[in-house]
Amino acid sequence: MAKISLTRMEKDRYLAQDPKITDVINSLVSREKLPQSKALNKDIETVVALARKFNEEVVKPAYKQIDLEVSKDNDYLCWDFIKKANEWGLYSLFIAKMFGGNGMNIIGMYPFVEELASVCVGLANVVGVHYLGYATLCSSWNLRVINEICREVKQGEKTGNPCLISLAITEPGAGTDLEETMLMDKGKVETIAQKVEGGYIVNGSKVFISNGHVSTWHMLIAYTDKTKPSKTTVMLAVKNGMKGFSFGHHEKKMGQKACVASELIFEDCFVPDKYIACDANAFPENASKSRQEIVQMLIDYVVSSTRAGVGAFAVGAARGSYETALEYARKKTVNGKLLINHQWAQSLLAEMYKNINIGRAAYMESAYANTMHGLVKTLFFLPIYYADRFLPSWYWTFIASPFFRLKIVTKLFRWVNFYRYPLESAEIQSGWASLTKFGCTDLGVINCQMALQLMGIDGCRHDIGAEKYYRDAKLLQIYEGTNQLNRINLFKNLVSRNMQEVEVF
Ligand SMILES: Cc1cc2nc3c(=O)[nH]c(=O)nc-3n(C[C@H](O)[C@H](O)[C@H](O)COP(=O)(O)OP(=O)(O)OC[C@H]3O[C@@H](n4cnc5c(N)ncnc54)[C@H](O)[C@@H]3O)c2cc1C
Repeated sequence: MAKISLTRMEKDRYLAQDPKITDVINSLVSREKLPQSKALNKDIETVVALARKFNEEVVKPAYKQIDLEVSKDNDYLCWDFIKKANEWGLYSLFIAKMFGGNGMNIIGMYPFVEELASVCVGLANVVGVHYLGYATLCSSWNLRVINEICREVKQGEKTGNPCLISLAITEPGAGTDLEETMLMDKGKVETIAQKVEGGYIVNGSKVFISNGHVSTWHMLIAYTDKTKPSKTTVMLAVKNGMKGFSFGHHEKKMGQKACVASELIFEDCFVPDKYIACDANAFPENASKSRQEIVQMLIDYVVSSTRAGVGAFAVGAARGSYETALEYARKKTVNGKLLINHQWAQSLLAEMYKNINIGRAAYMESAYANTMHGLVKTLFFLPIYYADRFLPSWYWTFIASPFFRLKIVTKLFRWVNFYRYPLESAEIQSGWASLTKFGCTDLGVINCQMALQLMGIDGCRHDIGAEKYYRDAKLLQIYEGTNQLNRINLFKNLVSRNMQEVEVF
């Protein structure tokens, strides 16, 4: 925890590295509309410097070995790394102070994960996907459950027992379908929650859950009626050790090997009422927004914030592969002169440099869209922003926490964030998130391919690192909605706006 603080000299040293911090934060139009720009810049500087220090001291010495370990033994879990990240305070770094976290501005998370991914996308995901769980938890607007789980994350840092959160939505027979309510009812949904006295009984399984085996809490998405999942979605907080919950196999996958992809099994798993984070069935049928619209908002709040994060991972991979290729080209002699002095190599490197900067501008724009239209808008509402920043943590623990337990508080937040949520905001955040997701991940994969091409056989060697970026980056085109789905979602939200005759899905 203590390591979060950097000395002035350390900060200057890390900020002097490429890319310059101004490249990271100064690109954008939307940012100018944020009243908190100055403080935001400072937070971004701090977390970028912190990520660079963490890379040097923890990630770089370990990442190639972890990749090899998992290749040899698919059941290997990188606990040493997770404990280090926990010790450094990375799992509560971006959790709001009001919920016991360190309260760094959430916008900083995007350049932060780019930095980690510029060395290893797999390890960046071991940190980043915890915030996918956090975003899911927050999108329930259930302040009591959010507060309880986030405080456990902080407690886990204090005791040295990491407490991570995963998101479990994908099922053996349904992936893409579950990220869009218009497709959900056609999908093969099998994780069913049945209401019983005092809670829900869940049966079914989830697959490819990142960080599953190493997380303590799992935000489980289940359905009470498998013929109408889009109207009967429930979000449950499932903790390790709950009766009827167990872990299955680890997926054997091509890349991001450090980040385990787990099967979660539910056999008559009992989840008590107090861990129902959000239940679409509890929303009135005849309110101004239908249950299906509420479920879509729930999904959009999550994926709009996390797709920008996947964009940042991809820019990290694009940058890592570019830096590897650049370094190689400065040393390798081809046809009697340095590779970097061949014009075709120069134009390839310029192309890669362009991809990085276009990608970064896109993911930051999407992050800002979230502050103005999405999940984190509430945190940027000035009274909440200043309270979170300046009130001491004892205030949140002892004075505010009891209020978070009141049902009326959750009701108020849901009224503002579901019923008063303008359609236009949903379109902007969701459209930008999709643009960023497929735009950045496609550019990321292209950069990795170009690096391999430039480096010839050396690019294929594990110890040099270029082939690993490629294996890692490819997966980014698949998760958080495949790039096909994201193209359609961009079309739905921004391209076909106000076109009554257009049908999507
Ligand atoms: C490394 C990794 C980590 C992951 N981590 C998580 C996690 O933490 N939690 C979690 O819940 N899930 C996770 N996933 C699952 C991921 O979200 C799904 O893979 C993704 O939603 C796609 O689902 P699918 O693979 O089942 O593809 P499918 O839905 O089977 O799709 C197959 C193909 O059909 C296309 N397709 C499907 N429907 C349409 C349509 N309507 N229009 C056009 N094209 C369509 C898809 O684009 C794809 O090309 C992870 C996946 C990977 C690879």
